[in-house]
Amino acid sequence: MEKIMIELTKNPKNKPDSKNLGFGKYFSDHMFVMDYDTGKGWHNPRIVPYGPFSIEPSAMVLHYAQEIFEGLKAYRRADGRVQLFRPWDNIRRMNNSAERLSIPKVDEELVLEAMKQLVRIDIDWVPSDPETSLYIRPFIFANEPHVGVHSSNKYIFCIITSPVGAYYPEGMNPVKIFVESRDVRTVRGGTGSAKTGGNYAATLRAGEEAGKRGFSQVLWLDGIHRKYIEEVGSMNVWFKINGKIITPPLEGTILPGITRASCIDILNHWGIPISERLITIDELIESAHKGLLEEAWGSGTAAVISPIGEIFYKDERFIVNEGKTGPLTGKLYDYLTAIQWGKTEDPFSWTVIL
Ligand SMILES: *Cc1c(COP(=O)(O)O)cnc(C)c1O
Repeated sequence: MEKIMIELTKNPKNKPDSKNLGFGKYFSDHMFVMDYDTGKGWHNPRIVPYGPFSIEPSAMVLHYAQEIFEGLKAYRRADGRVQLFRPWDNIRRMNNSAERLSIPKVDEELVLEAMKQLVRIDIDWVPSDPETSLYIRPFIFANEPHVGVHSSNKYIFCIITSPVGAYYPEGMNPVKIFVESRDVRTVRGGTGSAKTGGNYAATLRAGEEAGKRGFSQVLWLDGIHRKYIEEVGSMNVWFKINGKIITPPLEGTILPGITRASCIDILNHWGIPISERLITIDELIESAHKGLLEEAWGSGTAAVISPIGEIFYKDERFIVNEGKTGPLTGKLYDYLTAIQWGKTEDPFSWTVIL
């Protein structure tokens, strides 16, 4: 493994007030960077002071969006130590995204080592107030200066970190979601199962319009039939209908969430059967009409578990569990976050203590 060079900052920043972190607004003192050139491969891994890149206006990412990213968190445990949650899964998923976007893969061991060293160097940036953590954002972008369509011959891999508070500062209030029937996120064969910026760009319009109408997330339907439920905002989605737990299957259009995988393992561990299957919006609405829709939630690293309290579809409003967090939703949140913050034993070996 190539040695990671380290250049420490001479101008450490003031740390933000840990009571008012918000999400993704502050960045710690250092970042990890590594370059790729065709013929040379990935090289020059280094930790340097956080700061701007200088890239040419012709840098390919600006024109053809050849870019991927990841998101995971480092948590401050009650005993003061810091741990990463399932970092291997994020690194493997990043390489899967790389493969889809024709980006050269990275050495997984090196990336884990880079993450660990970066978090250790900025360990004082890992906040300790309840619900806070250090968000870790690895990303890769095409940096060859060429306005021509091909996969780039130059890339930059970077990891930045950001101290974050609870995703919803008002607390775990169930969100209102708008079922989007005009725009779609992706189709089978597209890039839905890769974590790439372009998928997000395509969702902003619907998200903004839903926001103006008072909804905090969009429920996405499949791009072909416009009837199968896919994801909610940038989270995987879950329903409890008539006692059964349902989440859409990974068939290429859905991001294989690590929080989703963790929910599956926890529910199995509790002996609660789940069914990964296609579910149509009509089935969901019919079960809501019949009073069988008991709980709904989204899962993702940023908010961990986000209860859904209201669903709006074709001028009709459906309230889930009286707009309150469902019992199973709450139990999942409590258990998963207890593992993440090291407040309970981790029977799954998900955490990596620094
Ligand atoms: C990142 C992401 C998720 C959630 O994945 P986690 O690994 O649980 O954070 C879900 N959907 C989309 C579109 C995403 O980008």
